[in-house]
Amino acid sequence: MVEATQRNRRLMTITQPSAMAGQDMAAQVKSPRPEFIRVDNVSKEFTGADLKTVRAIDSISCSIGQGEFVSILGPSGCGKSTLMMMIAGLLKQTEGTITFRGKPVTGPHVDCGIVFQDAVLLPWRTVQGNVELPLEVRGVPQRERVEVARKMIDLVRLSGFEGKRPSELSGGMQQRVAIARAMSLKPSVLLMDEPFGALDAMTRDEMNLELQRISLESNATVIFVTHSILEAAFLSDRVLVMSGRPSTLRKVIDIPIPRPRPIDLMNSDQIGGIVSRLRAVLESKGPH
Ligand code: ADP
Ligand code: MG
Repeated sequence: MVEATQRNRRLMTITQPSAMAGQDMAAQVKSPRPEFIRVDNVSKEFTGADLKTVRAIDSISCSIGQGEFVSILGPSGCGKSTLMMMIAGLLKQTEGTITFRGKPVTGPHVDCGIVFQDAVLLPWRTVQGNVELPLEVRGVPQRERVEVARKMIDLVRLSGFEGKRPSELSGGMQQRVAIARAMSLKPSVLLMDEPFGALDAMTRDEMNLELQRISLESNATVIFVTHSILEAAFLSDRVLVMSGRPSTLRKVIDIPIPRPRPIDLMNSDQIGGIVSRLRAVLESKGPH
């Protein structure tokens, strides 16, 4: 419980001036925790096959504290996945810098676990084999591999399913395997790109609770992209709202509700109010 309360105090600072305007000014509190990820004036342009340049992201700046749960909301095609890939070091920004604990990101780093909408499991491997994969690639000895994978499978509550293949699992269970695999190298940050987008509503609720538990237990910093405003409001310490392309950071909304948050909270006036505010920012056209 103490841990949950401490976690709640981990706040994020947004340095972009436009995000400082409006009624959320008061929420722009400096993190008492060490800054973990910093995105500084980052822009991204893509050049298509027709040689035309598209500016997907236009000078975004934010900083995320250690152990924070941050969601990113924004219209389709605004650059949420692009921002994630740049943070993971899998895509290079056109302008600006991204740092992890003060060190510039220059390429892929193991300190980052990624979960996508599709679990992307190897169908011929068992649950155990899929979770062990990143450890194998890193050359971790077999005994240690087996032990770490078991712990991760236990973390996502799939013990007993180690020998099953992905085709024998439900969609929710497959995403649990993807989370266990992403956590196997004990990353300090978990990047999740619409991980529950393909799941039915009930499984999604269950996975939201599970993700909250896993993030509290592992103390990982989580950056979570979703199209569900409710999911973002329920799970996050803060929500970043991006504008349409070329995207800027439109607003940051603080959600100072203690954890663990019960599923009933989803139907509460408190979350309802936050959802309305987020929706208003998403739907508005003008500057905030
Ligand atoms: P989101 O995840 O918010 O839906 P993306 O990050 O996938 O958006 O894409 C942002 C914009 O950048 C889109 O307009 C998309 O077409 C463009 N884009 C993304 N990746 C590429 C690429 N490899 N080449 C050209 N354009 C791209
Ligand atoms: Mg995307």
